Amino acid sequence: MTSSKKINTCEQGHIFIKNSSCLSCPVCEANNLPEGGFLSSLASVSRNVMKKNGISTLEQLSKFTEDELLAIPWNWEKQHP
Ligand SMILES: [Zn+2]
Repeated sequence: MTSSKKINTCEQGHIFIKNSSCLSCPVCEANNLPEGGFLSSLASVSRNVMKKNGISTLEQLSKFTEDELLAIPWNWEKQHP
């Protein structure tokens, strides 16, 4: 009979429903990432650029070749605020 549940979106764009007192993302938890995930160690600009390029895990990042990674505009946010 509680209406405390609501739709949340985590830092990595996963949509999930939890009550307001627990905002941890079950998708990220399922990925069994270390605390905060490796993306949390990156600057927010790089993290946003990676998200725009569909990269949210180390596994996805590892599939990119060095040339492809270098081709990513890592200062995307500055170019397109
Ligand atoms: Zn998530």
